[in-house]
Parts: sequence; structure tokens; C-alpha cells
Amino acid sequence: MLRTALLTAGRSESVRRLVEANPLTRPVVQRFVAAATPQEAAAATRRLREQGLHVTLDRLGEDTLDSGQAAETVAGYQEMLRLLASEGLAQHAEVSVKLSAVGQFLPADGEKIALDNARLICEAAQAAGTTVTLDMEDHTTVDSTLSILRDLRVDFPWVGAVLQAYLRRTEQDCRDLAGEGSRVRLCKGAYAEPASVAYQDKSEVDRSYVRCLKILMQGEGYPMVASHDPRLVAIAGELAARAGRGADDFEYQMLFGIRPDEQRRIAEEGGKLRVYVAYGDEWYGYFMRRLAERPANLAFFLRSLATR
Ligand code: FAD
Repeated sequence: MLRTALLTAGRSESVRRLVEANPLTRPVVQRFVAAATPQEAAAATRRLREQGLHVTLDRLGEDTLDSGQAAETVAGYQEMLRLLASEGLAQHAEVSVKLSAVGQFLPADGEKIALDNARLICEAAQAAGTTVTLDMEDHTTVDSTLSILRDLRVDFPWVGAVLQAYLRRTEQDCRDLAGEGSRVRLCKGAYAEPASVAYQDKSEVDRSYVRCLKILMQGEGYPMVASHDPRLVAIAGELAARAGRGADDFEYQMLFGIRPDEQRRIAEEGGKLRVYVAYGDEWYGYFMRRLAERPANLAFFLRSLATR
């Protein structure tokens, strides 16, 4: 109930204005949002690199209905990628892109505009010597996102996708994407989805995650295990070993600010760990999803507002 309420509030303009207007929100947001500018994001990347961690950078901004804003997002990614290359960080840092930030929801030709814009970001990533992963948003976007992925992979075979274990369709999507060269980030899923398309029970989602992991680990692609759940992290390690995968044949991924000690532990023990670093001013939707994932975050947020 609370999770659904927070996720619904995460898409409400009026709640957004209320939360953003409160100056006391910012310090809490900074736990999850590493930086405001590309320069600060590059600095955060360097600090993570010094700890042996890899990075994927997400320029915040989603659900745009303005083609100018979509073009600005593309230019922002191009700037970020140039910066990663010029600062020698591109070998260890890629970018994550939400297609709704580059035009997928525009009323006329949204899917084509998003494809063209994503292509520009892929060209910039190729020039920088790194990769792009397409984030997955709510279930209404999955077919469109996977179709754009297929088109992009013709010219940029290294483009990665995200699949969400809470969706009933995802096992089949894993089978379809487990082929050679594919890069799949498996996560549980962060949106409010109806029972017709998504498992509602946490244990059902976890079981689906393990089934999907088995498919990806036994496949020929590159699995990216995006979870902070200690049980799933341990199972991923076992399944990788059973499939004969070495430390370079798959990776773990976690969000900036969540279980940082565990992130360092995995890297220190020889695993590849990539941190998802969100940056920019459009933090509202991302922040609300992080609150929804863990009720304790909401309590912490409310307490910090009350004690300032
Ligand atoms: P959970 O069972 O939610 O959490 C396990 C444990 O991790 C918790 O007990 C807690 O200790 C810790 N934890 C988890 N979340 C939080 C939090 N917010 N604050 C504090 N502690 C927390 N979702 C999408 O729908 N689309 C995407 O494209 C997408 N990309 C992602 C990329 C990465 C790299 C990661 C790590 C996640 C991504 N997600 C995405 C979010 C994902 O779907 C989950 O909502 C999120 O990772 C929480 O699930 P979990 O597997 O960590 O398990």
C-alpha cells in the first residue's frame, strides 16, 4: 500500500512541487543522487574508481513530453561521454538511458524520436570507447524499448537492456536475449504494476529473479546482476560458477548510496561491481522510487525534515 502510494506520488506534479520546494529535502536526496553537474558526476566516478568500482551514469530526467528537453538530454549525455573520455574514465564507466527522457512518450512519432536520439547517444559512447544500457520503465514501455534495443544493436551490438523479474513475461524475454553479445541487467523492478502483468508477492518476485538468472547465466550473453538482496547476490555467484563463468564474464550492479560496504566487499573479493550513479536536477521520480523500495527510507526522510 505504502509502496504504491509513494510510486503514485512519484508521478504527481503537485506532490513533486511540494517536495522539491522544501529546502530540507536536498540533504536526504544527496544520499541517492551523487551529483548535480557532469563535472561533479565525473568526480564521483573517479572516487568510485579509486575503490575498484565500475560505474554507469544516469542523467536524471524522465517522462518528457517536450522535444526540446529530449534534445537537451541527448546533449547532456554527449557532454558526459566526452568528459569520461577526456578524463580517462570511459574504460570503467558507461551510461544508462531512460528512453522516456529522450522522447519515447512524445505524442507524434515518440518511438522513432527516441530511437534517433538513443542512436546519437550510442555514437557518442562509441567515440568515447564505452557502452550504453537502456533502463526499463513501466510495463507499457517494454515492447517499445525492446524494439528500439533491437534496432540499435544492428549498428551498436554492445547496447544493453534491463529486464525486470517482477514481470510475468520476463523469463521469456531472458530466453530471447540470452544470445551471444547481449548484455542484460536483471533487476526486480521499481514501478507500481498490476497483478495482470506482474508478480505482487516478494517471494514470487525473488523466485522469478532466480529463474531468470539461471537462463542468463547459462546463456551466451553478459549478465548484469542488479540487486542489493544478499540472498540473490550469493545465488548469482553460485550460478555463475556452476555455468563456468569467471569474474569477467558477468557483473554485479548496485545503486549509489545503497549498501556501499557490500559494494566494496564484492570488489575486494575480486568480483566486478558497477555502481549506478544518478546525477542532475531532475531527481524527483528517481528519489521517490528509492523511498518506495524501503519504508525505513521514508521514516528517515520524515525524521530528518522534523529535526531540522
Ligand atoms: P530488495 O528486496 O528491494 O532489497 C534488498 C535489500 O537491499 C534491502 O533489504 C535493503 O537492505 C537494500 N535496499 C534495497 N533498496 C533500497 C533502498 N532504496 N534504500 C536502502 N536500502 C535498500 N528498476 C527498474 O524498474 N528499471 C531499471 O532500469 C532499473 N535499473 C536498476 C539498475 C541498478 C544498477 C539497480 C541496482 C537497480 C535498478 N532498478 C531498476 C531498481 C530495482 O528494480 C529495484 O527496485 C531495487 O534494486 C531494489 O531491489 P533489490 O533487488 O535491491 O531487492
